[in-house]
Amino acid sequence: VDKEEEALVRRQLDELHAKYRTFGEDQVVGYYPPDAPDDERHHFGLAGTNVDGTQWQAGDCSVRFPLHSVSKVFTYGLALEDNGTAEVLRRVGVEPSGDPFNSITFDEANHRPHNPMINAGALVAANLVAGRDVDEKVDRILACYRAYSGNPELAVDQRILRQQLRSNDRNLGLCYIMRSLGMIDGDIDEVVETYLSACSITVNAADLSVMGATLANGGVNPLTGERAVAREHVRDIVSVMMTCGMYDAAGQWASEVGIPAKSGVSGDIVFVLPRYFGFGVYSPGLDVHGNSVRGVALCREMSAVFGLHVFADP
Ligand code: GLN
Repeated sequence: VDKEEEALVRRQLDELHAKYRTFGEDQVVGYYPPDAPDDERHHFGLAGTNVDGTQWQAGDCSVRFPLHSVSKVFTYGLALEDNGTAEVLRRVGVEPSGDPFNSITFDEANHRPHNPMINAGALVAANLVAGRDVDEKVDRILACYRAYSGNPELAVDQRILRQQLRSNDRNLGLCYIMRSLGMIDGDIDEVVETYLSACSITVNAADLSVMGATLANGGVNPLTGERAVAREHVRDIVSVMMTCGMYDAAGQWASEVGIPAKSGVSGDIVFVLPRYFGFGVYSPGLDVHGNSVRGVALCREMSAVFGLHVFADP
């Protein structure tokens, strides 16, 4: 990216940010947490990091938010590293389910959750992270996310974790069913705490864009030069984002936006254009699928304006 290009993209991103700043109130069906104060509901940040290290920011890029389901991407990568592709595939599939993120359905023929981007599969991936106990697993997850983001200060927000542990019947239910079916083993509270700790790690939009850029850059953080994940796993991680990253809107996203991405219930979205860049978007206010209303609209237009759709004619 040369100086001229950098400035042009900066201007275009500022325009897009301004255009979508007040977009879509009528499409919002909920916020996370539901009682989020009004001023927090209006946060809107957009950040990009190129594989050459160029960065762009527009709006609220220093506001921190919990990763929630976006964490599934990076924990899946760690599970692949700890267990190898074959073993992970035996335990969790790569097929889109077409069901909501917290659905209690499984790939029964193959005796595993459909994919690691919905809760059932993400709980299995958390179960597959190596470590003697929750603390060791969470420490390893943190070290991994810090390498992706280049931010050594990433941490689990304990208040958010406690809040999630309190209203957690669905994930517990999923785990009990999966243990009864032999899909997970061990202590269920530990599995859930590991998964929810990853969900409760807070980042800002700039951190998130670097995490995406690390995937775009074959697993090496473009700012620090540190390897966050083995190159051989990057393809598998990004593929499952493409097919399953946006819950039950994944197919629509693939056709309209056409960029591998993952969303979370806090209103965050990370998207990755392999070999080019990663972007992080944060805007609370969720649509019926649990995806950020403004985030989705912004990404759709960015894809069109910059010609990012991976299957579009060049
Ligand atoms: N922590 C949330 C949960 O497991 C994450 C879900 C999400 O972001 N969709 O319920």
